[in-house]
Amino acid sequence: MLKPFKVDLHIHTCLSPCGDLKMSPRAIVLEAIRKGLDLIAICDHNSCENAAATIKASAQTPLKVLPGIEITTQEEVHICGLFDSIDAANDIQYLVYDHLTGENDETVFGMQVKVDADDYVVAFEKRLLIGAATLSVEYVVDAIHKSGGIAIAAHIDREGFGILGQLGFVPPALELDALEISSRMCLAEARLNFSEYAHYPFLQSSDAHFIENIGRAFTNLNLYEANFDELRLALKGQLRRGIIYNVH
Ligand SMILES: [Zn+2]
Ligand SMILES: [Zn+2]
Repeated sequence: MLKPFKVDLHIHTCLSPCGDLKMSPRAIVLEAIRKGLDLIAICDHNSCENAAATIKASAQTPLKVLPGIEITTQEEVHICGLFDSIDAANDIQYLVYDHLTGENDETVFGMQVKVDADDYVVAFEKRLLIGAATLSVEYVVDAIHKSGGIAIAAHIDREGFGILGQLGFVPPALELDALEISSRMCLAEARLNFSEYAHYPFLQSSDAHFIENIGRAFTNLNLYEANFDELRLALKGQLRRGIIYNVH
């Protein structure tokens, strides 16, 4: 049956240096369920190495978790890539790793903790995940699509690392699948404020770095099921799936 599903497609884990150490797979899954979310995506900075553990932690629960990554392009624009499988997400992760330089300084940026589905520490990521990849925004969007993913411009209403703040506009030829709004304004307001981009689907996500912020912003989608294929149909507004803009 077609019905509204509550989705939050931009959540960090303890792998992001700026993510709270309490952002572990089990804690994220529990809080997402507590907030009534049906579908979430894990989007750490320039990595998806905690996504598989979070997906595993959600097994036997009603929550669906998608693997994702929040890539910092060479223009310092944040683009979220969402995928149907860990393999597809890994293709992009390896591409990004090949174009990242520098080593993380935990004392300056924070720890980058890789964990398993039971929240045990597996390793500490050494790469400078907070850095920018030497990949253009056009290249990143194209690469996400080639891996079968969905490309979303993150928090376009934020000056720092938002596409509008960094580039001043959304390049017309850039084939973004959606624009994301932060928790600062509601979707209806955003579509008025950014009316020149109203032909794009708009999503709202929490960009949570702390447990309590999971679900602080979310989007209602009309879907048959909470999964990647249904999300794609909703973003295209096909087969009666779609974004519900007027409920919040
Ligand atoms: Zn961001
Ligand atoms: Zn983020």
